[in-house]
Amino acid sequence: MKTDLIPGGTGSCCQATGSGGNVISCCSRAALLFVFCSWCTSSVLFEFWLVPQNLHRTGSPVIRCIVFGAACTLSHMGAVLRKAVQSLPPHQTEVFQAVLEQLQWFAGQQIRNVAAVGGNIMTASPISDLNPVFMAAGCKLTLMDKGSASSLCQDASSVSFHPPTTFCVSSPQSQFISAFKQSPRREDDISIVTAAMSVTFSPGTDVVKDLRLSFGGMAPVTVLARRTRQQYAVSIRQWGEELLQEACSLLAEEMSLDPSAPGGMVSYRRTLTLSLFYKFYLRVLQKLSVQEVSSEETDTLDVQERNSLLRLQAVPEGQSLGDVVGRPIMHLSALKQATGEAMYCDDVPLYENELYLALITSTKAHARILSVDAAAAERSPGVVCCLFASDVPGSNITGMRQDETVFADGQVTCVGHIVGAVVADTQLHAQRAAKAVKIQYEELEPVEAIVAQSFYKPIRTIQCGDLEAVHNCLPGEIHIGGQEHFYLETNVTLAVPREDGEMELFISSQSPSDSQAFVAKALGVPANRVLVRVKRMGGGFGGKESRTSVLSTVVAVAADKLKRPVRCMLDRDEDMLITGGRHPFYGKYKVGFLQTGKVVALDVTFYSNAGNSMDLSQAIMERALFHMENSYSIPNVHGQGFICRTNLPSNTAFRGFGGPQGLMVAEAWITDVAHCLGRSAEEVRRLNLYLEGESTPYNQILHGVTLDRCWDECLSRSEYERRRAAADLFNRQNRWTKRGLAVVPTKFGIAFTATFLNQAGALVHIYRDGSVLLTHGGTEMGQGLHTKMVQVASRVLGIPCARIYVSETSTNTVANTSPTAASASSDLNGAAVLNACQTLLKRLEPYRTQNPKGSWEDWVSRTKDINLSANGFYRTPDLGYDFDTNSGRVFNYYSYGVACSEVEIDCLTGTHKNLSTTIVMDVGHSLNPAIDVGQVEGGFMQGLGLFTLEELHYSPRGVLLTRGPGSYKIPAFGDIPTQLTVSLLRDAPNDKAIFASKAVGEPPLFLASSVFYAIKDAVRAARAESGMTGPFRLDSPASAERIRTACCDRFTKLPGTFSPWSVRV
Ligand SMILES: Cc1cc2nc3c(=O)[nH]c(=O)nc-3n(C[C@H](O)[C@H](O)[C@H](O)COP(=O)(O)OP(=O)(O)OC[C@H]3O[C@@H](n4cnc5c(N)ncnc54)[C@H](O)[C@@H]3O)c2cc1C
Repeated sequence: MKTDLIPGGTGSCCQATGSGGNVISCCSRAALLFVFCSWCTSSVLFEFWLVPQNLHRTGSPVIRCIVFGAACTLSHMGAVLRKAVQSLPPHQTEVFQAVLEQLQWFAGQQIRNVAAVGGNIMTASPISDLNPVFMAAGCKLTLMDKGSASSLCQDASSVSFHPPTTFCVSSPQSQFISAFKQSPRREDDISIVTAAMSVTFSPGTDVVKDLRLSFGGMAPVTVLARRTRQQYAVSIRQWGEELLQEACSLLAEEMSLDPSAPGGMVSYRRTLTLSLFYKFYLRVLQKLSVQEVSSEETDTLDVQERNSLLRLQAVPEGQSLGDVVGRPIMHLSALKQATGEAMYCDDVPLYENELYLALITSTKAHARILSVDAAAAERSPGVVCCLFASDVPGSNITGMRQDETVFADGQVTCVGHIVGAVVADTQLHAQRAAKAVKIQYEELEPVEAIVAQSFYKPIRTIQCGDLEAVHNCLPGEIHIGGQEHFYLETNVTLAVPREDGEMELFISSQSPSDSQAFVAKALGVPANRVLVRVKRMGGGFGGKESRTSVLSTVVAVAADKLKRPVRCMLDRDEDMLITGGRHPFYGKYKVGFLQTGKVVALDVTFYSNAGNSMDLSQAIMERALFHMENSYSIPNVHGQGFICRTNLPSNTAFRGFGGPQGLMVAEAWITDVAHCLGRSAEEVRRLNLYLEGESTPYNQILHGVTLDRCWDECLSRSEYERRRAAADLFNRQNRWTKRGLAVVPTKFGIAFTATFLNQAGALVHIYRDGSVLLTHGGTEMGQGLHTKMVQVASRVLGIPCARIYVSETSTNTVANTSPTAASASSDLNGAAVLNACQTLLKRLEPYRTQNPKGSWEDWVSRTKDINLSANGFYRTPDLGYDFDTNSGRVFNYYSYGVACSEVEIDCLTGTHKNLSTTIVMDVGHSLNPAIDVGQVEGGFMQGLGLFTLEELHYSPRGVLLTRGPGSYKIPAFGDIPTQLTVSLLRDAPNDKAIFASKAVGEPPLFLASSVFYAIKDAVRAARAESGMTGPFRLDSPASAERIRTACCDRFTKLPGTFSPWSVRV
């Protein structure tokens, strides 16, 4: 026998002996050893194969067996197996290929470079990806202890507990083995179900001798379907339909799951066991060449070359080279951010006497606090003090609607509700002590908002036309899940007390003025004592508009009490637990339409899950209502929005601010209309698009509509007709893989719907050396606002960008600012900067006139007695809307865009692949096309996460289960469409905003729904194979679970109803 030895990490020593397919003994510094053999009957000679090549090689040239030391990394193991696959006949490498198949989707390269195979086995994770392969392959493990060794076949009982092992895997000519991994996200994710399947036939026949099906994710350990295996050990069965039916029934019985199994998705996981077996069944059929099945099974996971295109706008002919407006100049912090030099809040150096704060939060969703015992915490090492409601010197009442508390007072209304805080010398000490605080609760029933009619007021309604006149309305509904902001930088505050009750705060906040007001109120001091400074944020996305105050008020109270600087940066799990996210929405509708596809009536009701406080939920619901018809002109509309009070952390602003939810419901009903009529959804959408001069349901006349231009350009750039024909052909040829396409428009209203917020200020100083310090009310969160503001100042003052600097945003330079939100910050702050710069130019005018040939520096240096500081202000004119009369102007203007996406779904697993997306976006005359394209791409990808991937899971007791990147998946590189083309619509000036530009931050996000509706289109094709036509419900996100379930077929019909591990909120 010959075996290759793969040492267990550097410096390990291996020596292999063994014979007849039984396992080889090994001595390695790591005590675990694996052997993969390509043949395993005692009559066959084994080879010892030494890898790396410089290791000892003996015996005949026939390679049969590879030995791995336990500390061999997965990357190394993969490299060795790949080499073996290249040099051995295919039938001898079935097992190696199955391991490689699994390694492809095993974590990421970095993890595979350090994770060792021994550690993976010994971790005994129920969702280990390798253990099912080892088990199905019938691997043998050698267990070693000082001087002694024993071997065993890896099966369910051995995986979890036995220490040192080696493997021996057989791969006779008549064995086929495949591995499968199904996870929420394809890249770098943990499995929902992982499986490996091996079948051995009697030589020269298709009669099954052994069938080993092993699964991860179906029990607390990796399991082998023993009863299914026993069946084929005793009965003679050929690989065919009869076996398929029988094996599926046995598997369905054997792979049952407890209703409350951790991870949830019980029905889906059970369906997957059957679906994956069916995939295996088809693969083996194909290999046996018993029948032609190649068109049945198309692997959806092949890697395609990525291809992205940008089409930027050109500046007008004749624009001077020095004029940077409209040019794609780089984000001014880009290099600093890429190199790590950019300073964020937590980079502020430690103060000498600084302390750290940790929060004490509720573990109950709704309860009365009976007692709080902080004695143990106060005795903990390094603890300086504990703080509770009675320690707040000013008002404990806080929040956007004054319906929250700094610290819970007698009652908690969500898990994560802040009850108190511990301040200590270090983060570790503070966090340890916070866990030592004992709170006794009397639990109260959580609120079921819709059942109990527990709604925040007002309940908004918008109505136009007459719904009574319309009959035969088609009903439907859709649920849109929430979303975590997942900014890279979590919420953070450093509070530094100064003299006379002054408090200086370094915060990562989109709304310094709100933070200032909340802190001043909690401390009981006037606003002029509180200075809030924001250099930049590591992402905000709305999550730092109002919810930063949850932390900053607590930190400020602690700093005030102790008269020492106090800092706190939330850990990811704390941030996810405490600060809320995008509102989940449930939309119910009735839509009336003509045979032509023209929609004539819409009745829609929205329910949003606001959580335990009002926060910004009213404005969010109003925006959802203002977007309920998306881009479609409908004469009769009734929309109503209910804001549900629930026992979850308060949900808040998130890019799009209710717009994407309202728009998403619109696309659900327009798709239903198309499905009902049996027409293409694109045809129906195009037919209903708004035209110039038409009126919205809230009576705003539309001017400068570019929807039709965006639509036509998008169809032409995406080659929609060609793609559609190709997809139809593909779908006819493939039963279990389907392609889908969707073209979706968006019309996004620009303005704060709270009219008074549509204002901004700026302060510009010119120093005698000619340099300019620019300050404005907006904050920088990576979106490039400061860069655009410098471009504006540069054009107005006529000086290069390099002469202008933005240091930070602070409440002592520009006061009473609006949050950086609603996509309107460039419009508002840009106009304020313009205003300030024009004032300064006017003051400089005499010097320019005196010396027209002089330089900027000449003029400025001569100005000894004029004020070279000016502030600017801007307020958007003519805004204001009244719900009672359904009149007034809600929005300043609209940003339009259209996207066409194509996807491919695997009907058996629910996996999907984003093949291509083409976006045409109207951003007016872009201030900076490089930044704007970045915003379009970024918004699109964030929307893609919202509509296809990201899922928050809550336990039935209101505990957030998804509190980190391990369980909550945002899009990865592989989720970016293989072909992504972004074009900015040319020659579309906007007369309502600075230099004819348009807002861009939020509008493109919804275009990602084109991926969702392309998936729905593919699911429609799959359902048609089962004879199902007409409208069907698909909730967002279109996760693998939902896609699989919607592709109804014989594997999805499993008996049983369960009470779930997690609930939808
Ligand atoms: C980001 C990330 C992604 C991941 N993705 C996946 C995935 O997709 N699929 C998957 O299956 N796993 C995944 N994992 C799990 C990971 O692969 C395992 O944790 C890894 O294989 C363990 O290897 P290690 O060398 O780090 O083991 P260690 O962490 O060092 O050890 C793990 C355990 O095994 C014991 N042990 C190690 N060697 C021996 C030995 N020779 N004898 C006896 N006991 C031993 C250790 O004492 C310890 O208890 C992921 C992990 C991370 C961090």
